[in-house]
Amino acid sequence: MKIAPLELRRPRSVEEVLGQLGSLGSDGRVLAGGQSLLPMLRYRVLSPHVLVDIGGVDSLRSCALDDGLAIDALVTHCDMERLPAAGNEPSVLALLRRHAAEIAFRPVRARGTVLGSLMHADPKGDWPLVFFALDGEVELQSLRGVRRVSMQELVAGPLETTCAVDEFAVRVRVGREKVDPVSWGRSKLSHRAGEYAMCSAVALNYDSGWECWLGAIDDRPLKLARVSEQLSRADAGSQAELRDGLLAPAADELMEAVPDMRRVQALRHAHNLLDAVWMAMDGERRHGNGN
Ligand SMILES: Cc1cc2nc3c(=O)[nH]c(=O)nc-3n(C[C@H](O)[C@H](O)[C@H](O)COP(=O)(O)OP(=O)(O)OC[C@H]3O[C@@H](n4cnc5c(N)ncnc54)[C@H](O)[C@@H]3O)c2cc1C
Repeated sequence: MKIAPLELRRPRSVEEVLGQLGSLGSDGRVLAGGQSLLPMLRYRVLSPHVLVDIGGVDSLRSCALDDGLAIDALVTHCDMERLPAAGNEPSVLALLRRHAAEIAFRPVRARGTVLGSLMHADPKGDWPLVFFALDGEVELQSLRGVRRVSMQELVAGPLETTCAVDEFAVRVRVGREKVDPVSWGRSKLSHRAGEYAMCSAVALNYDSGWECWLGAIDDRPLKLARVSEQLSRADAGSQAELRDGLLAPAADELMEAVPDMRRVQALRHAHNLLDAVWMAMDGERRHGNGN
């Protein structure tokens, strides 16, 4: 289907974006990379009268390490994939590079933005998982002021957020205490390379303990609290010992949280999580810290 006729506006500054969203109300919709929005317009899932294309707001292209990490609204998946490496950088940057490289294909990564992915709130999306795990905070701005919301507060359900019609997301922040895990691991299982995840997992090993997160399961990513605790108490043995000790508990905990999930699916997610955990343990073993 073709996109229904609509007006396209191209503001050049944050103030202009705010002014336009404020006056348009529910008639307007933010357009970033268009990789998720344009298909939805084609299928007429959404039918805004006006698209506010933020692509010309050059002040929103930065990804900065400054008392944590701040990623602006126009930073693309490709920008993340190519984040310049620096000596002594916090270990999370390597995770973000690796994570970005497995999103879709190069043309999608060149246009799609990190914030667009968070605001699209697709349960199978790759970035929501990472920013839930990193306790990311999204800055929503409107003419009324700035609101900082956690990922839990932002995501209202599948493809739904609590962002008001006059607000837009200017950046996502990760606090200093979260950017430098001792080691990290991730694993994404897809039917074919470049597709959305069938299972996805991130395992972060901090001095304070492990944090194991699953994506592509329900309306939002889930932290397996019991498994994280069990892992924090256990010494790293072999990969086989890890599976023996954690596969069933991970599947059980997931099925408690998502009761209509079949056992075979839960086991697939659990296997995928343990691949991520093993990757983190292996990185720590080989490099002392970080991956
Ligand atoms: C073929 C294909 C394969 C893909 N595979 C994957 C995959 O494997 N993993 C994955 O995670 N994603 C995948 N995607 C989606 C891709 O990552 C998108 O880039 C992303 O979901 C949306 O980013 P965008 O910048 O294109 O946002 P847009 O499509 O422009 O917008 C998406 C939604 O977010 C809103 N929005 C965007 N930016 C803001 C903002 N700053 N403030 C408020 N609202 C905003 C829009 O109004 C819209 O509702 C795929 C897409 C395609 C086309």
